[in-house]
Amino acid sequence: MVKILVTDPLHDDAIKILEEVGDVEVATGLTKEQLLEKIKDADVLVVRSGTKVTRDVIERAEKLKVIGRAGVGVDNIDVEAATEKGIIVVNAPDASSISVAELTMGLMLAAARNIPQATASLKRGEWDRKRFKGIELYGKTLGVIGLGRIGQQVVKRAKAFGMNIIGYDPYIPKEVAESLGVELIDDINELCKRADFITLHVPLTPKTRHIIGKEQIALMKKNAIIVNCARGGLIDEKALYEALKEGRIRAAALDVFEEEPPKDNPLLTLDNVIGTPHQGASTEEAQKAAGTIVAEQIKKVLRG
Ligand code: NAD
Repeated sequence: MVKILVTDPLHDDAIKILEEVGDVEVATGLTKEQLLEKIKDADVLVVRSGTKVTRDVIERAEKLKVIGRAGVGVDNIDVEAATEKGIIVVNAPDASSISVAELTMGLMLAAARNIPQATASLKRGEWDRKRFKGIELYGKTLGVIGLGRIGQQVVKRAKAFGMNIIGYDPYIPKEVAESLGVELIDDINELCKRADFITLHVPLTPKTRHIIGKEQIALMKKNAIIVNCARGGLIDEKALYEALKEGRIRAAALDVFEEEPPKDNPLLTLDNVIGTPHQGASTEEAQKAAGTIVAEQIKKVLRG
């Protein structure tokens, strides 16, 4: 019987699909030693982002054929080591696009209207209507960095709010931008100068690390709001902190941080910073989709 080891919480519907093709063992919260032991005779390993599937884990596996990542990025899996051993890695890149795009819109609105700060104030028993005066999204220019799956979903939603969209993505065809109604800008600095809101939707790579740095922040409008639901390392947090502290830009709304969970991150001491603990894909729908898409792929691989 095929042994399927699941080491992070997985949606029930995904487990049901996996049970059609093998014996499923759900073992979450394993130590590295326990994982090294359990992986030995597993044919399939299913993870989300918690389990680190490093080279030593892969090398210990004697029967492993497939690794399923119920989510988007495969940064927690040593894909090279897996490929060397002929192990197939499958993921669900589309599963969370809408959830991340919706959180992006939520954070944009929350930052523009100071919703978290106003809620906290209200709950303290205050009734301060002047302090939380916000700005509208309507008629503003949104700069979208990265026009892939999530970026495009954000564009559609921002259009419904009456925003003008400019985009920076050197790898997408002009026609795609045109069909989305996005003005493609080939210089990120130009985008930073023109945008009222800036949102990031690129992967973190050596090329995109600190794609928003001191230079780009210095070019932004005084009322600019930055939203980051992609990866923390895309923004130079030190430069962002300085700019927010000195009021050189209006606000930042962050779902991701250079270090997660953040430890003594000064950004979190600022009033004009709001955020969530990496919740982009954390919805019932996205998790169900991520699990079931990956389970179906595993089923296909096992059935050849
Ligand atoms: P995607 O691959 O569909 O799109 C990424 C886009 O970035 C592509 O169009 C690509 O051309 C563009 N790009 C690559 N390098 C670039 C560069 N140097 N400059 C400008 N554009 C560049 O990815 P996606 O599904 O839209 O996801 C985007 C990112 O969102 C992921 O890489 C991931 O880091 C993040 N994400 C976060 C969460 C969360 O929980 N907050 C969940 C899912 C994904």
